[in-house]
Amino acid sequence: MADLSRRRLFTRAAAVGAGVVSTGALVGTAPAVADRGTRGGSPPPFNPVTVQPGDTRYESFLRAHNTRFAGQPDRVTIAGSPNDVAEALGRAVGANRRVAIRSGGHCLENFTTTPDIKEIIELSQLKDVYFDEERKAFAFEPGAMVASTQGTLFKGWGVQIPSAGCSEVCLGGHILGGGYNFYSRIHGIAVDHLYAVEVVVVGADGQPRTIVATREANDPNRDLWWAHTGGGGGNFGVVTKYWLRTPGVDSTDPSRLLPRADNQRIRTMAWPWESMSQQDFTTLVRQYCQWFERNSAPGAQGVQVWASFSLSHKSAGVISLMAGVGKSVEGGEALLDGLFSAMTSGVRVQPSADSKYDLPWLDRDNWYWGAPGRQKDKTADLRKSYTDEQLGTIYRHLSDENFSDPGAQVNIAAIGGKINSVPKNATASVHRDSILRVYFTPGVWRDPAADDTYMSWVRNLYRDIYRNTGGVPVHNDINAGAYINYADNDLADPAWNTSGTPWHALYYGENYARLQQVKKRYDPRSVFRHALSVKPA
Ligand SMILES: Cc1cc2nc3c(=O)[nH]c(=O)nc-3n(C[C@H](O)[C@H](O)[C@H](O)COP(=O)(O)OP(=O)(O)OC[C@H]3O[C@@H](n4cnc5c(N)ncnc54)[C@H](O)[C@@H]3O)c2cc1C
Repeated sequence: MADLSRRRLFTRAAAVGAGVVSTGALVGTAPAVADRGTRGGSPPPFNPVTVQPGDTRYESFLRAHNTRFAGQPDRVTIAGSPNDVAEALGRAVGANRRVAIRSGGHCLENFTTTPDIKEIIELSQLKDVYFDEERKAFAFEPGAMVASTQGTLFKGWGVQIPSAGCSEVCLGGHILGGGYNFYSRIHGIAVDHLYAVEVVVVGADGQPRTIVATREANDPNRDLWWAHTGGGGGNFGVVTKYWLRTPGVDSTDPSRLLPRADNQRIRTMAWPWESMSQQDFTTLVRQYCQWFERNSAPGAQGVQVWASFSLSHKSAGVISLMAGVGKSVEGGEALLDGLFSAMTSGVRVQPSADSKYDLPWLDRDNWYWGAPGRQKDKTADLRKSYTDEQLGTIYRHLSDENFSDPGAQVNIAAIGGKINSVPKNATASVHRDSILRVYFTPGVWRDPAADDTYMSWVRNLYRDIYRNTGGVPVHNDINAGAYINYADNDLADPAWNTSGTPWHALYYGENYARLQQVKKRYDPRSVFRHALSVKPA
């Protein structure tokens, strides 16, 4: 999918200085046609398209990746430039029509698919990735998919950004939520590299204007940049471009301005459910978590090892661990093996599979997580291992014979490391003392009649694990809240969150008050809102 011909080898439109680029109605920074390429016969720009009911294309935009939700927009504007975004936004606000922004459509909740949303501004055609010579930073349009982005960065410069494992997630929503992947233990999260963001906001007068906000200390819009370092999608305006460049690197060589990509040495192991006692399960998972308690401090050699432990439902037959280490890491394979020996020590169940192989970087770029379907997923961060009582609860739900789906799992992925070297308030992403991120899914299903079965399974599992803290991961010595990119509306529902701790404290902790101030300043009319949006101060 990545295509070097799309790489821009020249300077982009000059209208991108720090601060407000343009004020007033409908003025953006769309590149001129002549700026679309240097070769003869370059393709023309994508002109905006409006899709309305009655058009064959209309149905494809009613649902996003989670097909459990369907919207009823009057129109969908497929934008081809930031100007198109500003125009569509101005028109929708002027007509008092509720608007939502969609890039990759991978939101786990209904943020772009409620029936009261009357206009969708769709950004999937804004998908360029290139090195911006003027800013000395990599530029990313919001509709760029993770796989094509990583492919372009790797083929062009041998670099990468910490971004989702799913190849089809788009940077539009992804970076706004923080953006992490396996390599975040070594390189931090995506927003730790965010230099600037171009955003179309709507003022109190209802007029759109385009702002470029940077991390420079003297930028009058620095707070807007800060809100885009983990404040979550659909809150402040429409991002039409991100620029990333690792802070503190003094170089003009693009190949040094983002983390280097490394080929990987992988080890996988699986353990069969049929011979796994609760004691074995508990010991395996606890010892896995405890290895990361010992190996997740910023700068520790162990942060070179990443891991994803899929505690699949019994109907899958096995639980399985995938872990890896960069091939250039000295002693990396021994480190990797150290994890496996520590976690299996004293465990009686024997693995049914154990293999090692090399994975060239570009191959990891193509991980595809599957077609759209109905979903209800949940998440929580851990500062240390679950207790044996909590692990017993997980064992009980995973071996529940009344539910069956091989895709159902509790996935425990390693984070911490470099992520935790950043102060909590330096970015909007507050998760700076977690070591593990847990993802709960009942699998993906298609039949609406099965909604209750699937949703009850994952909701009851989560409620039971967190029964001592009101059904949700309220911060304490074990829990560290939840990650906004894995949005879960239940955290704002008193039926499922009985803790007395509001949803925003779980997602944003102490950073919420500042996000509210930014909201008040840059989105005074609350044009951008959804079930878990930041409320103005
Ligand atoms: C299969 C799968 C795997 C995932 N894996 C990971 C992972 O490994 N790591 C991780 O960190 N996250 C992961 N995620 C979560 C993902 O990062 C978020 O769901 C993200 O918000 C998706 O962005 P999107 O643009 O594809 O989605 P969308 O549904 O288009 O957008 C999500 C939210 O952001 C808003 N938004 C989108 N574009 C813009 C924009 N340009 N300006 C302003 N607001 C915008 C939308 O309005 C919406 O509120 C995964 C999600 C899925 C479904």
